[in-house]
Amino acid sequence: MNPEGDQDSAYFQSQLELYPQATELLRPFCEAGVPIFLATNQPGISKGHFTVDDLEEMHAELERRLKAGGVSLAGIYSCVHHPVGKAGGDPQYVTDCDCRKPKPGLLTAIAQDHGLDLTQAIMIGDSSADEGAARAAGIGAFFLVRAFISEVVPPARRVVPFPEALTFEQAIRKAAARLSS
Ligand SMILES: [Zn+2]
Repeated sequence: MNPEGDQDSAYFQSQLELYPQATELLRPFCEAGVPIFLATNQPGISKGHFTVDDLEEMHAELERRLKAGGVSLAGIYSCVHHPVGKAGGDPQYVTDCDCRKPKPGLLTAIAQDHGLDLTQAIMIGDSSADEGAARAAGIGAFFLVRAFISEVVPPARRVVPFPEALTFEQAIRKAAARLSS
């Protein structure tokens, strides 16, 4: 997770930081057979910050770390597009796509690929783009969490845009309560 603002998601393995209790909190969902997906905006390819290979390596490392804690993801869905891009970026990804959150494309793709009813789905996100995508896709419940502020984010950009937001742990507990009700 990453702070709101111009900061793009982590894209190099060295920048990847798991929320300290991530696997411990997510494992019960896996054990209960609840599929967990990651839906992420990754505009850095069209901005020249990294390549598709860097992103795939980072996601592979994320899955390794989660698996070590007993958590398997059912899928990772990335929007690698950006409507404007930047000099040095890969122009083939500079496009006004339908999957960059707050658009619903990543979420509707998950539903289609896996035969899921999104009104039964729960989404945890850390930005207004996440919240917008959840609403546009008809997600059953959305919980906004505070960005997990990473050491790799420069101090000036460590913003906390949603003081009312939940901690990740609180959001997980609400999600668990909703699933068991
Ligand atoms: Zn996209």
